This record gives sequence, C-alpha cells and structure tokens, in this order.
Amino acid sequence: MKLSDKAQESMNKVIEKFQSGDLSPISKVARIRLDPSAPAHKWSLSNKILAFIQAEELDCRGFGQWKDIGRNIKKGCKAAYIVRPLTIKVTNEETEEKENRICIGFSTIPVFAASDTEGEGAVQNYQPVEFPPLLDVAQKFNIAVEFVPIVSDRLGDSKTDGSKIRIGTKDPSVFFHELTHAIQAKVEGPLQGGQQTDQETVAEFTAAVLMDFYGFRDHSGNAWEYISHYASDPLTAITKAMGTVEKVLQVLLE
Ligand SMILES: [Zn+2]
Repeated sequence: MKLSDKAQESMNKVIEKFQSGDLSPISKVARIRLDPSAPAHKWSLSNKILAFIQAEELDCRGFGQWKDIGRNIKKGCKAAYIVRPLTIKVTNEETEEKENRICIGFSTIPVFAASDTEGEGAVQNYQPVEFPPLLDVAQKFNIAVEFVPIVSDRLGDSKTDGSKIRIGTKDPSVFFHELTHAIQAKVEGPLQGGQQTDQETVAEFTAAVLMDFYGFRDHSGNAWEYISHYASDPLTAITKAMGTVEKVLQVLLE
C-alpha cells in the first residue's frame, strides 16, 4: 500500500509495536466502551489502533468535531493521524454498470485526543470493560470444547461449522486460536477446510491479543512468525484480517 509520509510514519509505529511483540494497544482498544456519539465509535479497528498507539487515548476527533461540542485544541498539541482509503467506482465490463469500489490509495486525517482539548463541552470518562470467561462464550454459541490428546501433527483443531473445538495442549494460545476459528464460523458462516491464510491470520492474531489481555503475554512474536509462515506480507495480512478480528472481539465482549 502507498501512503503519505505522515501516514507511513504512523503506520510504522504500529508495525514496530507488533514486531516488538507489544499487542497491548489492541486489547486495550477492545476493552474501551466508547460513547456511541464519539466519531471513533464508527472507525475501523485499524484506525482505532492507529489513533490509540499515537495518542494513547481512543476518543480522538478532528479540529471541527471538537469545535462542534465546544472544545478547542490546546496550544502546541500534536495531531495523531488516521487513514482514509481513497476509492473510485469501477465499471463492470459485462453489465457496464458502475458498481465495485476499488481502493487507489490513502489520505490522512489529523485528529486530537480528548485530553489535548479544553473548553466548556463535557467529555466522557472511559472505563475499560472486562472480558467474560471464554468457556462461557463457547457455551453460549454452542461450541463444544474437548480437551483431548489429538493427532500428532497439530495441537488443536476446529470443525468448519464451529460446532466443536478440540484442544490437545495446556497452552492457552491454542484454545484462543481454535475458539476464534469457531466464533468466526458462527458469525460469518462455515470456514473453508484446511489451512487458509486469511483464517489462520485472524485466529492467530486474535489469540495473540487474548494472550496479552489475560496476562499470558509473550505470544505476539510467535504470532508474527506463524502469520509470516502463511503470508508473504504479514502486515497486509493483518490489516485485511482486522475486520474479522474486530467482530470476534465484539462477540467476546457482549
Ligand atoms: Zn488454525
């Protein structure tokens, strides 16, 4: 992907965090219940993480958006940057109808954190929410969980319709990985059989976030390596996976 210098700089911070094994921004972002009227509520998970890594706060808004609620940016405060895809409509050659939108690049949008603003308008105080115990989530979605010794080429597996996962190790990252597969199947429909790059990226990336969230840590290096094994460009794979990662995390939070 081609980004402006400022956007590239922001993206680099995110990549550095992931490569160094720090996935905590994602689990933190996932735990913040934003005021539904906050603009960031509608952002993609990638943009939420971008803003959070730069500003260390999630309720970031543009200059005009703060002005609208009666707040101004304090002098000397630096903007964080989120990215917006630039898309054009392309014509379907067979039907000659304009339909698909394709992404031709990215533009950057400067936003400012709530604590960098002042004024009469009130801002909400954000309390992080807790994840529920994950075995309960599995139960609620009718996902059977079996802890059994299984065939030697794997540590766990999941049925493509998400009805059952089998775990053959005490390593919680394997449970998180298989649970993610099953929840994705329940939310988006049956998975493809075998090891698919996109599905594996979603499962492993979400597992790394959950490992961080539950304080096991030290799994993201593994995740990066695991994802690199499937995808030639791990960052693009992760960016593509974000939409599904967000859906799975939402399920775990409800
Ligand atoms: Zn898998």
